[in-house]
Amino acid sequence: MTQLGSLEATGTARPTDRSATLFARAEQVLPGGVNSPVRAFRSVGGTPRFIRRGRASWLEDVDGNQYLDLVLSWGPLILGHAHPAVQARLMDALTHGTSFGAPTELEVELAERVTRIFPGMDMVRFVCSGTEAIMSAIRLARAATNRTLIIKFEGCYHGHADGMLAAAGSGVATLALPDSPGVPAAVAAGTVVLPYNDLNAVSKCFAQHGAEVAALVIEPVAGNMGLVPPAPGFLSGLRQLTTTHGALLIFDEVMTGWRVHPVGAQVLYGVQPDLTCLGKVVGGGLPAAAYGGRRDLMSQIAPSGAVYQAGTLAGNPLAMAAGLATLEVLDDPAVWERAAQWAAGAVCILERTASAAGLPCTVQRVGTMFTIFFHPGPVRNWAEARVADRERYGRFFHALLNHGVYFPPSQFESCFTSAVHSGDDLERFESAVSSAFGGLR
Ligand code: PLP
Repeated sequence: MTQLGSLEATGTARPTDRSATLFARAEQVLPGGVNSPVRAFRSVGGTPRFIRRGRASWLEDVDGNQYLDLVLSWGPLILGHAHPAVQARLMDALTHGTSFGAPTELEVELAERVTRIFPGMDMVRFVCSGTEAIMSAIRLARAATNRTLIIKFEGCYHGHADGMLAAAGSGVATLALPDSPGVPAAVAAGTVVLPYNDLNAVSKCFAQHGAEVAALVIEPVAGNMGLVPPAPGFLSGLRQLTTTHGALLIFDEVMTGWRVHPVGAQVLYGVQPDLTCLGKVVGGGLPAAAYGGRRDLMSQIAPSGAVYQAGTLAGNPLAMAAGLATLEVLDDPAVWERAAQWAAGAVCILERTASAAGLPCTVQRVGTMFTIFFHPGPVRNWAEARVADRERYGRFFHALLNHGVYFPPSQFESCFTSAVHSGDDLERFESAVSSAFGGLR
């Protein structure tokens, strides 16, 4: 029983009065009415749905509309909403208190589990968000190499720390410019932004700046320009170049951890980074993230080393409990496999329906993540992703919403599936997709 109640999806416009009223109130007191920009529906238009509750693969909004959820809180909920094992662990932790600002057994257990799962991660430090994980890993890389320059890729998102909000400069391997007002030019100039999947550009950059590069940071499967996999040999090429030039390789697996593979992209592609950042699934739907890697690097973090990084709520017992419960359930390989199989089924449906409708689309999937680009493809980098037809994506998004499917409200985000998305859900998805494509031409 995955549905919340008896309401059935219809093809007609759904009531959104309560969401609209809440959004109007929210806009008075929260910038744009939200606490994170993509939630405001700006790239697809319309009123964001205010969510009342979630159960398994379903969401219900404040007007009582139900949706098959393919966003899953942007990735963390690989076991779906309100999973009984996560709830039980959380209830238990809650009865003991919410935060102590002192070490707990839960954080040791989760650290042991994460370091056992990720090869080459001897030690880990928990933080509260992916942004913090990346920011801290970069600080550590700069300290460990005594260099400052960071290489990142266009279309990859690594949280909103100043140095990561950098846009490509005028030429390959030139220093980056601020990608948001408020980011000092001097900070952006500590980053070089290169095209994803272009090993040649990375090689040129190392030839020019090699001795200054502290680290190269990458989403090993990009999920923030829509889903874009690494080209064959790209990640291993990065490993070689960073090693040759004495720079650290940082894999941002905040999104891909437990998503593109039962462990992560580093195991899927057989490439070992020096540092790994985790988030989303590791917190089981609560605010937790982590960075970790080799002992010689991680022991440079305070208090065992001099690199300062701290957090009042870091390793919070509720977040540790939700993360532990999630990873314990994922010990059974069939759980991850179910989520990946559902994603494979969804991709078949999208491809078949798009092709029958004669619309040029590319659907890309790795594991439990996928994106449909309204573009004939292939999509290998940001330049190719950004020419997708966003207006058509917006219409597709709203048609799905009207048929009870909650897709990401932006062309440049990935869909996520869970282990509790069912066969019935897939049938519902197929019928919604077929109606949505029917209205697209
Ligand atoms: N890195 C990646 C790959 C992400 O997708 C995100 C967020 O979506 C982040 C970092 C930032 O994480 P957070 O939103 O928890 O700060």
